[in-house]
Parts: sequence; C-alpha cells; structure tokens
Amino acid sequence: MNGIYISGNIAVLIILSICIYIIISNNKKQNQLFEYAYVDPITKKGNIYYFKKKGQEILGKRKSNEIEFKQYILVLDINKFKMINKTYGYKVGDVILKGIAEELENLLGKESLICRLSNDYFVALFEFKENIHYLLEEMVRHIENLKVGDTVYSLSTNTGVYKLTNEDRNISEILDRAIMAHSASKGEVFEKFHIFDEKIEEELEKESKIEHEMYQALKDREFKVFYQPKFDAKAETLYGAEALVRWEHKGEMIPPSEFIPLFEKNKFILQLDLYIFEQVCSDIKMWKEQLGVEPVISVNISRAHFLEDDFLKKYMLITSKYGINTNKIDFEITESATIEAGINIIEIMRNIKKLGFLISIDDFGTGYSSLSTIQDMPADILKIDKSFVDGIGRSEKNIIDYILTMAKELNLMTIAEGVETKEQRDYLLARGCDIIQGYYYAKPMPKDEFEGYLKQN
Ligand code: C2E
Ligand code: CA
Ligand code: CA
Repeated sequence: MNGIYISGNIAVLIILSICIYIIISNNKKQNQLFEYAYVDPITKKGNIYYFKKKGQEILGKRKSNEIEFKQYILVLDINKFKMINKTYGYKVGDVILKGIAEELENLLGKESLICRLSNDYFVALFEFKENIHYLLEEMVRHIENLKVGDTVYSLSTNTGVYKLTNEDRNISEILDRAIMAHSASKGEVFEKFHIFDEKIEEELEKESKIEHEMYQALKDREFKVFYQPKFDAKAETLYGAEALVRWEHKGEMIPPSEFIPLFEKNKFILQLDLYIFEQVCSDIKMWKEQLGVEPVISVNISRAHFLEDDFLKKYMLITSKYGINTNKIDFEITESATIEAGINIIEIMRNIKKLGFLISIDDFGTGYSSLSTIQDMPADILKIDKSFVDGIGRSEKNIIDYILTMAKELNLMTIAEGVETKEQRDYLLARGCDIIQGYYYAKPMPKDEFEGYLKQN
C-alpha cells in the first residue's frame, strides 16, 4: 500500500518536471522565434517588422482629444556606406551601425522606438517638446563624427523627418512620409535633413513623373544639343561653343535646371552626358567633313562621373569612334565638383590632360577654392561665373579683377560667361579676359543655326 503511494508520488513528480521542461523550452523557442522575426542581429534593436508592429501599437494608443503630440518619425541613412564596408571591412561597418543605433538612443531618449530598416537605414519614432531643428542639428553633428570607444568615424548622412499630426493612425503612411522627406534630402551636400511638407510631396510627384519618362525620352531622342558660341574678346571672332542640353518634350522645351539636379541625384546624368557627348562628336565630324572647320566644343561633365572608375574610357571610346582630336574637346568641370570629398580631382584631371583634352573650371569663384588648390590643378581655362559678370554693371568689379590677375599669374586662359551688355564686354576686354560667352553675342541655339556662325568664320 505504502509502496504504491510512493511510486505514485514519483510519477507525479516526473510528470510535473516534464511539464515544466516543456514550458521552459517552449518559452525559449518563442524567445528565439521573436528574436529571429523582430531583432536586428547587428544593432540588437528592432527590425522593420518590429518597427511596424510596435509603431502601430504606439499610434493606436493615441487619444484624439490630446492637444498636440509633438511626435516625430525620422529616417536616416549613411552616404556611401558600401564604400565604408569595402574600404574598412564589414566588421568596422557593423561597429558603426551599432554605434549609430546607440547614439540615436542617447539623443532621442530611451523611450523612443529606434530600429534598423535595412542596410544603413535607420528609423526612429520619438517625442520631442522643444525646437526640433536644434535636436536634428545636434544629431547630425554627433553621428557624422561618430565616436565608438576611442575611434571617431567621419560619416556623411541624410535624414528625412515627418511631424505626426493628430489624425495620423497608420504606421506605414507616416513611414512613407519620412521616406519622402528623406528622398528630398538625399544627395544634398548642404541640406543634411529635410522636414516633410506638402511642397515636398508635389516636388517628388513631379520627380517621379520625370523618372518615369526619362529612359523613353533618351530612346526617342528628345534630348537635344544646343550650342552657345564663344568669341575671342579682342578679335571678336568665333572661338568655339558650349554644348548645352535641352529636353524637347511634347512640344515644350524644358531647360536643364528642371532635370539636371534630379539626374545628378539618380545618376541618369551618367547616360545623358555620354549621349550628349556622342551628339557633339558626331556634329564635329560632320562639320570637319562638310565645312572644313573643327571648332573647340565645351561639354559639361557632371561630378557624378568622377565616382566611376572607367568614365574616361567611355569618353575616349566615343572620341575614337568619330575620329575627333581630343584637343578640340573642352571638359567643363564645375568648381564645386573639384572640392567634393572622396575623389582625387587632381589625379582625374591629370588623366584627362594625358589624353589631350582641354579642361575648364566652370562657375569659377562660387566654390571658394583656395589659390593653392587651383595652382595644383592642370586646368587650361578659368570660367568666371555669371554672378561676377553681373556685378560689373553694379560696379562690383574687384572680384573679377582679382580672378583675372590670378589667372594670368597661373598661365590660365579666362572666359567670362553670361556677358549681356557692351559695358561688361568692354570692361572684361580691358582687363585682359580672353574669351566672351553670353547673350551679348548669342544665345544657345540649335545645331543648324550654329552652322551659320561656323560658315561665317
Ligand atoms: P552652365 O554650365 O553654367 O551653363 C551656362 C548657363 O548660362 C546656360 O544655361 C546658358 O544658357 C546660360 N547663359 C549663357 N549666357 C547667358 C547670358 O548672357 N545671360 C543669361 N541669363 N544666361 C546665360 P542652361 O543652358 O540653362 O544650363 C544650365 C546649367 O545646366 C548649366 O550651367 C550646366 O550646369 C547644366 N547643363 C547644361 N547642359 C548640360 C549637360 O549636357 N550636362 C551636364 N552635366 N550639365 C549640363
Ligand atoms: Ca558650363
Ligand atoms: Ca557656368
């Protein structure tokens, strides 16, 4: 009787332990499942699924009668993060990602929902009662000089921010708006963060329409080259021309200011510049054969090319295809492109020169290059920006005088752009400017019209 009682007890104990074991291991499994589904292995913060789940919960708790929530959502990414991984290795890349997640938590507070969306994209939903601009400036400063242990990593970021309204209840919708604001800031060097407003929405709709049409437009040959003649200041004879793109779309002529900035952001400019270059080479070949002239033609070359290893090869291929002398092609490189971080512009320029092309520094005077950097650049021509030429009429002449003197000392040719009046032209000539371009002589024109100028000279 007693024996049965004891063995019964043991049986109960065994069953109980099995139950406890099952519960514990199930819990463990559930935790593992949770981690697998919602935790980002690198930063140990939530991933996009967690953000949407938890964010939706937070939004669900909002009561409509509250006065103002002061809640924000931001999306932040690191520029050229791929390069960091490539240069320093994935381990360092991971350290940086973890560091950013921690820095965001320090700055935005422990109660904020901070997650890694994908690769180098972070998202945060947070509350902030004071001036959001100060907070964002502080954030950019901290993350762009990210301190992890004793090491400081110098990074470049872009951030999009959306301030939640009282009506916002859907996490995906507000995430979309932060992403829209982020797109507006992406590619901008000076605008590190962008706060969503209705204008952005409109702007982005316009951009997405253009992005929808650009490939077809290239196929349909809607991009046209216009030529603006350049004249020798003293002899007033034709020196050459600058090739400027125009987009002829549905009977409308769209100026480059409407699409070049977008194409620089989405890199379509790489294709467009080469397309324009090919038109130019084909035109030069025809003029040589039919008119017996070979003018110097300037083409604008976007800074985006300098991040491509083989861009010069592509230009060379086209030049050879049409049998053009490289010394008849002048690459206009903007001054601001020459001071962009991450590219060795001097080396790029040397390679361009080795092939025999000419180089102009475009928009000179607007980029604050130092005299010593210009000295090291193997350029041929300084192109004085229109804003300084405009100053001549308003007796702000000292910058022009300074640029012209400096150029002479460095043995560079000078060209002034945007010359509109006789007064401006006379002043520039008197100060030794070599070449003049501007409405005073001629506006950019289609190829056929420019041929008239070639025939006259
Ligand atoms: P940019 O290279 O500084 O070109 C000079 C701009 O000034 C041109 O504007 C030209 O039409 C305009 N201009 C010339 N003379 C005068 C003048 O006397 N008065 C006034 N008010 N304007 C004058 P455009 O053609 O609208 O081009 C704007 C910018 O777009 C160019 O500035 C250049 O940065 C860019 N761009 C144009 N074509 C290309 C291209 O094929 N590739 C690339 N990457 N950029 C291009
Ligand atoms: Ca130019
Ligand atoms: Ca210019």
